Amino acid sequence: MTKLAPVLSAHWDEKDSFTIEAYTRHGGYKASQKALAMDPDAVIQLVKDSGLRGRGGAGFPTGMKWGFIPQGDNKDHYLVVNADESEPGTCKDMPLLMANPHVLVEGCIIACHAIRAKHAFIYIRGEVTHVVRRLNQAIEDAYKAGHLGNGVDLVLHVGAGAYICGEETALLDSLEGFRGQPRLRPPFPAIAGLYARPTVVNNVESISAVPAIINNGPEWYQSMGTEKSKGTTLYSLSGHVNNPGQFEAPLGITLREILELSGGIRTGHTLKFWTPGGSSTPIFTQDHLDTPLDYEGVSAAGSMLGTKALQIFDETTCVVRAVLRWTEFYKHESCGKCTPCREGTWWLVQILRDLEAGKGTEADLAKLLDLCDNILGRSFCALGDGATSPITSSIKYFRDEYISHITHGGCPFDPVASTLFVGAGA
Ligand code: SF4
Repeated sequence: MTKLAPVLSAHWDEKDSFTIEAYTRHGGYKASQKALAMDPDAVIQLVKDSGLRGRGGAGFPTGMKWGFIPQGDNKDHYLVVNADESEPGTCKDMPLLMANPHVLVEGCIIACHAIRAKHAFIYIRGEVTHVVRRLNQAIEDAYKAGHLGNGVDLVLHVGAGAYICGEETALLDSLEGFRGQPRLRPPFPAIAGLYARPTVVNNVESISAVPAIINNGPEWYQSMGTEKSKGTTLYSLSGHVNNPGQFEAPLGITLREILELSGGIRTGHTLKFWTPGGSSTPIFTQDHLDTPLDYEGVSAAGSMLGTKALQIFDETTCVVRAVLRWTEFYKHESCGKCTPCREGTWWLVQILRDLEAGKGTEADLAKLLDLCDNILGRSFCALGDGATSPITSSIKYFRDEYISHITHGGCPFDPVASTLFVGAGA
């Protein structure tokens, strides 16, 4: 059985893990010294060789993304770290930043050197005041210790709390002071990103993985994970489990293994459905317990690895109600730029509310699927697509439960026994 493999989370159980003293005690800031002595292109090659892929959801190779930045163009380059974590169920970056903010700071120094940037920005979700304070302290301490300010400046930008600002181009607009809405691409951020300059936008976990790769070498990273999904990653387990939290393991571990290693489904209950990567990824059921949780395995089984947010729902959960709550989230967070998502998510909510209350018909189910069909692939950004995933996948696996809401004239679940849990760390 695959074992947990703490790399990023290796010292999280130490009381002072978030301090610069603890970080340096465990060899922190040695990787940046090593990287700064290397040619920037060699650093990019090393990250390419490691096989590291973006941990924000898309899984794009990190080294390749860095390699897209034009060199010798006499323009400012920027690194932007996406810390706008806000999808229901997704809760890996904030615990990482609380437990070890310096690994991100060091990762920023290395990435800036590689892409020849002098400025890095961390865009963080506004509501997480405690994380903002911790990261500010880490940045201040890194300046005092001379790790920052000698070639790289790091700015923490606190967003106003909009899910759409986790989309990289909306994030850039927001960072520039505009309303956060996705930009038309091309041009891509690597050519015209922040302030129309070449920009790399990476997720917190992706950049935080870099110091260990520099220290231990690409072969070490390659030795973990599966053929095309290398290294370890943070799996966030939430919902109806005995022991929710972060579990770091090599990519390719299965949910069955994670549950066995972490204490399992809450006692006396059975697994009903789960998300492999947050609420915008199609749901899975018992049948997918042995699906390898890597980019290829999850995709082959009909979903997406996303942010590895494993939200677990047992048999007491009404799937229609859970999907309604997620859809209300997407309707609320739709930025309004494009019609399919702005209007479509509103209608999805109306129909789902009727169905959940027992006022729907089988024709409504068909209408729901038709609406999803007209939103998916026709929206301006991934938010519209993501809003349809829980609906279409839940109808695929639990059509009978939708029908029983119609025939029962309401939720067939005992309202007392039935619970709804739509994820932690939103
Ligand atoms: Fe905005 Fe939704 Fe269109 Fe994305 S899909 S641009 S969030 S309206």
